[in-house]
Amino acid sequence: MIDLRSDTVTKPTPEMRQAAFEAVVGDDVYNEDPTILKLEALAAEIVGKEKAMFVPSGTQGNQIAVLTHCVSGQEVILEADSHIYFYEGATISAFAGVQPRTIKGKDGVMDPEEVKLAIREDDIHQPETGLICLENTHNRAGGAIVPLENMRDIYSISKEAHIPVHLDGARLFNASVATGISIKEYAAYTDTVQFCLSKGLGAPVGSIIAGDEAFIVKARKWRKRLGGGLRQAGMIAAPGIVALNKMVDRLTEDHEKARLLAQGLIEIGFSVENNVDTNIVLVNTQSRGYTAKQFVEKLKESGILSSAFGPDTVRFTTHYDVSEEDIQNSIDLIKKLV
Ligand SMILES: *Cc1c(COP(=O)(O)O)cnc(C)c1O
Repeated sequence: MIDLRSDTVTKPTPEMRQAAFEAVVGDDVYNEDPTILKLEALAAEIVGKEKAMFVPSGTQGNQIAVLTHCVSGQEVILEADSHIYFYEGATISAFAGVQPRTIKGKDGVMDPEEVKLAIREDDIHQPETGLICLENTHNRAGGAIVPLENMRDIYSISKEAHIPVHLDGARLFNASVATGISIKEYAAYTDTVQFCLSKGLGAPVGSIIAGDEAFIVKARKWRKRLGGGLRQAGMIAAPGIVALNKMVDRLTEDHEKARLLAQGLIEIGFSVENNVDTNIVLVNTQSRGYTAKQFVEKLKESGILSSAFGPDTVRFTTHYDVSEEDIQNSIDLIKKLV
């Protein structure tokens, strides 16, 4: 099977497995796991924030951010197709008790003027705006890169209004590698950042949430409340250290593979719906007479796994466990199918 469903399907590298095997560990709820502390220090350094904290998943990292920044009854501004709004089970409402205020972006990019207008006034009838969330790269926009200038503009609006900004940077490393803009530069226009170790970077488990020290102190408490306080977690943090040290630069290969796939599919007569900035390709199946579900099934019979993304859209995601040859083979197989 050539698995192009997601960049989460990768298996840990031999070096990650070795690192897990050899990890020096302690009880992380007591702050005594040396490998966790090492990963958190490395992550904080990379994002340029005072502190970082390991969390079991990106979803938990985002939810901890909302819970830590906000109080119940506030409103959070987010992009209408953002992961936090679309894919996290309404947890911001159910757990944090906040109301989402969505803004439809273009390729995942919100207009700063619209963000400004969405910020609530001091009025007895209205909720307070408690947080603004950004996402880069933008998942549902097909791994689209949100330009640094856009983040800067929204950040400056937020600072005038004294509202914090959280970045869901599950795939921020993809943006950074594609643009040459450092993680630190992106993170400079945020108060807190979440990024995944378990997506393109290939670690088996985990995400990082970073911010200033006061934020992380509160966030640790939320993590414990949510059941994310782990014990000898160095076992799973060690592969994360390998991910940050060894797996970042190679993301360019994933982007090349995505472009290769997009090109190949366009040549067969499919239309590609996204710009393919990074490692995701959104392919429209309608012109070839398939619904997304039908096409996914058909591909599966030929040994290719993909995701139905919309009624007529199939999503392919490249990652280090698929080679350029796999991509070429996939294109050849699809050519035969249609
Ligand atoms: C995958 C993803 C998450 C959630 O990460 P999990 O580790 O799967 O919980 C959050 N935000 C974005 C943009 C994602 O792509």
